[in-house]
Amino acid sequence: MADHPRFGPAGIPLAFDILKRPVEDVPEYLRSEGLDAFEYQAVRWGPKPQMKKENAENLGIKAKEYDVRLSVHGSYFINFCGDALTVEASKKRLISCITAADWMGAHEVVFHPGFYTKSHEDDLQRCVKAMDDVVKFMKSCGIVGVSLAPETAGKVFQLGSLDETLTLCEKVELTKPTIDWSHLYARERGKLKTVEDFRRVINEVEKRLGADAVKELHCHYTRVEFGRVGERRHHTMDETEYGPDFEPLAILIAELGLNSVILSESPILDIDSQKMQDIVFREISKRKGSKP
Ligand SMILES: [Zn+2]
Repeated sequence: MADHPRFGPAGIPLAFDILKRPVEDVPEYLRSEGLDAFEYQAVRWGPKPQMKKENAENLGIKAKEYDVRLSVHGSYFINFCGDALTVEASKKRLISCITAADWMGAHEVVFHPGFYTKSHEDDLQRCVKAMDDVVKFMKSCGIVGVSLAPETAGKVFQLGSLDETLTLCEKVELTKPTIDWSHLYARERGKLKTVEDFRRVINEVEKRLGADAVKELHCHYTRVEFGRVGERRHHTMDETEYGPDFEPLAILIAELGLNSVILSESPILDIDSQKMQDIVFREISKRKGSKP
């Protein structure tokens, strides 16, 4: 689907928000900025979609018209590691996001699977079980075009190391990873620096999930500040005192010919999407220029 690297904001652009136009107009706005991906934020949703079906469908129609690829960021209030009641409520929240994603024709629902309790291994098994139940529900309603996309987590008390995220994808159908590079960086306390550091992550995804999983990798990126337990706050591309650097990822996207979807979670969202796009396109044209 993603036939080239795509860039866009994880959330409504700040300048668009001021215009007070309906969300259906976001794709046209992003296209005018040269962007082609959008992650709709359903991060505070409860057990019912908090958007009308008609509006979701219109957003999907406009996204197709302007060739903007859609995904949804699911509820923050999901915890598949909690007690039985919490897990059931979490399933409902995830399903409400999936339902709206299906209305929109969005490709992924990104979410954080949960918070560790005593045993990381038990927690992981509980996430697999809950996600299996959600997939069963999706199949029973004929929803097969939306992927569950657990995200690598930025705090050390959240389930979502690279290994755990890939395990969920290996074990649960209709699941693919969201690689949040900033979260990996914060969780590992700044270890993601060189092209080879980024390559190790991409190689691991390929080894465990296959070449297709890498080709259209769903990514989040922003510069991030971290403390003892991980992610603290997001920063803009220009605040270069914070990592991770974007260039190593851009170099790899160009070298490997990846069609990654890169969503900006920077405080200035789309403005930084344009910067990332410029950096990747520059790397791609450098490589073209260097071919004999
Ligand atoms: Zn993220």
